[in-house]
Amino acid sequence: MTTTAYPNLLAPLDLGFTQLANRVLMGSMHTGLEEERGGFAKLAAFYQARAKGGVGLIVTGGVSPNFRGRIEPFGSELSHFWQVNKHKQVTEAVHKYPTKICLQLLHTGRYAYHPFGVAPSKIKSPISPFTPKEMSVRQIKSTIKDYAYATKLAAKAGYDGVEIMGSEGYLINQFACERTNKRTDEWGGNIENRMRLAIETIKAVREKVGEKFIIIFRLSMLDLVEGGNSWEDVVTMAKAVEKAGATLINTGIGWHEARVPTIVTSVPRAAFTWVTERMKQEVSIPLITTNRINTPEVAEKILSEGQADMVSMARPFLADADFVNKAAANKSDEINTCIGCNQACLDHVFQQKRASCLVNPMACYETELVLEKTDKTKKLAVIGAGPAGLAFSVYAAQRGHQVELFDKIGEIGGQFNVAKQVPGKEEFYETLRYFTKQLSLHDVKVHLNNEQSADSLLAAGFDEVVLATGIKPRKLDIDGLDAGFASNKVLTYLQVLRDKVNVGSKVAIIGAGGIGFDVATYLSEKSLTNDPEAWLKNWGVDKNYQQAGALLDKGELPVHQKTRDITLIQRKTSKVGKGLGKTSGWVHRANLVKQGVDMVAGATYKSINEQGLVIEVAGKEQLIEADNIIICAGQESNRDLQQALAEGGVPVHLIGGANVAAELDAKRAIRQAAELAVQI
Ligand code: FAD
Ligand code: NAP
Ligand code: SF4
Repeated sequence: MTTTAYPNLLAPLDLGFTQLANRVLMGSMHTGLEEERGGFAKLAAFYQARAKGGVGLIVTGGVSPNFRGRIEPFGSELSHFWQVNKHKQVTEAVHKYPTKICLQLLHTGRYAYHPFGVAPSKIKSPISPFTPKEMSVRQIKSTIKDYAYATKLAAKAGYDGVEIMGSEGYLINQFACERTNKRTDEWGGNIENRMRLAIETIKAVREKVGEKFIIIFRLSMLDLVEGGNSWEDVVTMAKAVEKAGATLINTGIGWHEARVPTIVTSVPRAAFTWVTERMKQEVSIPLITTNRINTPEVAEKILSEGQADMVSMARPFLADADFVNKAAANKSDEINTCIGCNQACLDHVFQQKRASCLVNPMACYETELVLEKTDKTKKLAVIGAGPAGLAFSVYAAQRGHQVELFDKIGEIGGQFNVAKQVPGKEEFYETLRYFTKQLSLHDVKVHLNNEQSADSLLAAGFDEVVLATGIKPRKLDIDGLDAGFASNKVLTYLQVLRDKVNVGSKVAIIGAGGIGFDVATYLSEKSLTNDPEAWLKNWGVDKNYQQAGALLDKGELPVHQKTRDITLIQRKTSKVGKGLGKTSGWVHRANLVKQGVDMVAGATYKSINEQGLVIEVAGKEQLIEADNIIICAGQESNRDLQQALAEGGVPVHLIGGANVAAELDAKRAIRQAAELAVQI
């Protein structure tokens, strides 16, 4: 018998009236399927795959207990008996396996993205255009009843419990904090009054469903906003939550409006588990910890050190449905690791699109993107081992095709090898580790340092060829550019990030897209992903919790020493960085502002000379003094082989950058690979 490398993670958790198979909770995620026509059947398949993959407890995406609490005009709600049946599809699918599932009840309060929002006080949030109405006492009491009724319906639908969302700045959190609660009645003022909504809700829910039903309360342990709660208030609330009848307390970190990143890739792994550990000394019911936990090793360490009783991971289950089973089989090197990019999950949700995953495009498409075994095995050549070529090779081989993968350089990964050099993007290493393992598991023949020509490919007799040859950096036409390249004054981003050419202390960057930002980050920042203490301080988080909200005073913030003068330039007149990820762009921008990077919009490039770069902005010419000018001006497709192959009579497919370079990212490259693989 093999002994597990993760004994704490895989240990059952006894809740008295029921037992969880292990200590892994799949955290709440809104997928967008909840509101799609026919979405519940797809949602059931999504959750079933995770249950099959061995997770102990699932918490669904947030569902409002009433009309006013919905996230958006057509957001999910569970307040009518007729809504029960569609939820049954989900619970029945999950209960084919020994996994439990809780419905999350989430009332958005002032975060509602519609005009019917309500809140403890009439104060608009900075992230919604709508000002909420102040709740009357009658409305508060009927909202508590709505929570209880929604729970009754959840029980009818077969859920094993509910999670009451009390963090991230939603309604219950809004009541709990002075920031948003200015009431002078018994629902505002001291903490006993401010937490009354939370406590009365738990009591009402417990009364409705009896003792044998899981109630998780998601408690905001770190508000990370001014006017948030003090540690003493959080502890008072946790003790009252326990007394009111909660089964488990989950950890909530930061309001959505907080200016501290809490889950993006540059947040160090497990950066916030210390707060759950601190709470463990205060209450006796099991505590769940969360945020940027993405490997079984990290989760096991947290549990073995007694920081928490359970670990919540959400996005890692988009990236790999079989996370737990792979860990249990000691095959953690086969796990497709969430890289914290938010590109296909949160960014999609905020754009009202269905969530998926950059590294796993099958997530939330379990019934649509299906890798069925082929009955006609083909001999396929894949040229280019970047994300597109890697993903296609693995998926096609999984279907039973014979795949040979070629790359002209000596390692797989394509541009991911460049991306992983950027501080805060170290998780890209995990994707490369994952693909390396998958290529070998699925018998893909990999040929590195092997530049293929059309002739060599035609001679080898492949049935079809997939060109995943990526991109070439765009060539610009600026006066003095060629002389600049010749003297190494002008560099491409590849020379900087990949070839590590020396860069001077004054830098102008042409192009402020994702790569321009990454180059500016690389040249100005030290990676703090392996130094959580320094990272927390950098973002103004006070681990000693001396102040309400756990934020440091302005005077205690670290002073940044500028190491280079960097100017980041674009032609567009819009705000620099506007096109970056919806939920992560602000972090990149804030980081560069802290490092003193200048950002210029609306520029025309005039010339490059010995002093630097001459640009024109609003009709005025100016020189940006620079030792180096770095070109990050986008790319063009590299598909030199296409025509000759097609003329040679072999079917050719283009994926990733080789297909379309404009606005290409790894999400599109990998998704396109999957779409081709399911039908080739
Ligand atoms: P590539 O990754 O370009 O791979 C093409 C491969 O083909 C290369 O390995 C090349 O050597 C090989 N090749 C070319 N011609 C031949 C030939 N004739 N024979 C054999 N092999 C050949 N995307 C995101 O989604 N999120 C990010 O955060 C992100 N950050 C980035 C940061 C940086 C600094 C960079 C440079 C890129 C970043 N990207 C990011 C973009 C992402 O890496 C690309 O979109 C993705 O790599 C494109 O994949 P691809 O497979 O189409 O091409
Ligand atoms: P990009 O985001 O499209 O940015 C290209 C930049 O070059 C823009 O600032 C553009 O702005 C400028 N530009 C375009 N044509 C130009 C020209 N002819 N002359 C001068 N400037 C020109 O592309 P990228 O930065 O190369 O990134 C490639 C892809 O990788 C992107 O699609 C991105 O999604 C992905 N990526 C993502 C991240 C991330 O963190 N999510 C990070 C890196 C890369 P103007 O036209 O206004 O000048
Ligand atoms: Fe993780 Fe990115 Fe996938 Fe979201 S899209 S689950 S952040 S890897």
